[in-house]
Amino acid sequence: MILFRDPNEIKEFLVSKRRQNLSIGFVPTMGALHQGHLSLIAEAKGNCDLVVASIFVNPTQFNNSKDLETYPRSIESDILKLISAGCDVLFHPEASNMYFEGEKKLSSDDYGYFIEVLEGLKRPGHFDGVVTILTKFFKIIQPNQVYFGQKDYQQCLVAETLIKRDFPEIVLKRCRIIREKDGLAMSSRNARLNAEERRFAAKIYQILCEIKSQWTEENFLNCVLESRNLLNTSPFSLEYLEVCHVETLMPVKSYFKPVVILVAVNLGKTRLIDNLIIE
Ligand code: AMP
Repeated sequence: MILFRDPNEIKEFLVSKRRQNLSIGFVPTMGALHQGHLSLIAEAKGNCDLVVASIFVNPTQFNNSKDLETYPRSIESDILKLISAGCDVLFHPEASNMYFEGEKKLSSDDYGYFIEVLEGLKRPGHFDGVVTILTKFFKIIQPNQVYFGQKDYQQCLVAETLIKRDFPEIVLKRCRIIREKDGLAMSSRNARLNAEERRFAAKIYQILCEIKSQWTEENFLNCVLESRNLLNTSPFSLEYLEVCHVETLMPVKSYFKPVVILVAVNLGKTRLIDNLIIE
């Protein structure tokens, strides 16, 4: 695996690879890699000649400076994991090479209703930061395909909109959520949970599955209300549990399919998100 820290150097390298007609699959990450990230690398490897991963804890997408400071970082073990997964190129830039002093974020304001709700509401400016960094990455890497996990459901919609508008030549691949044995969605933030919180964390997916199994005209409303209560009882503190239209994220208030249930919950000091689609 070749490691690049300088945006110009990786850009030049990839231009030469494209001249050789090699297709490029790109997997953007913030590091602290787990099987969820590595599943995206595996998907990219199956479809593209060259797999490029990025590890960059993007400061502009954090609306909470404490969260940015304490975000898990493990570059040495990440590099070993990427090598084992067969990743060809790693881009691990310094923040000072990605942003200039006083630079303004791009705006995602006119992306649609889905930007205004859930993560967009709870983390003001978050998606502006996502759009800003993805735009920079896409210009540097110019991938044929880019891989995103459905774990960050709203982020998939944002990236799809950005690509449709500004980078129509890129194909976006949405990948399924990889879970621990007890159903907890893998996340870099899970490392922050203590043993007791970790046991409780499995309830999030169990509750999503319970809603799915009760998704009938008679039961769905009660089940959603009950689930909100369960996830708002100590040690949980619920930010949202919403049933939404799969594309617009408009709230679904009457019986309907397909829908996506999206949840954000705090467990101790750790904020966890998850989702489940009911086809
Ligand atoms: P992050 O490092 O959290 O920014 O995530 C980088 C990419 O990995 C994003 O596209 C995430 O949606 C994806 N990802 C994170 N966790 C999982 C998971 N458990 N299963 C599948 N993809 C994931």
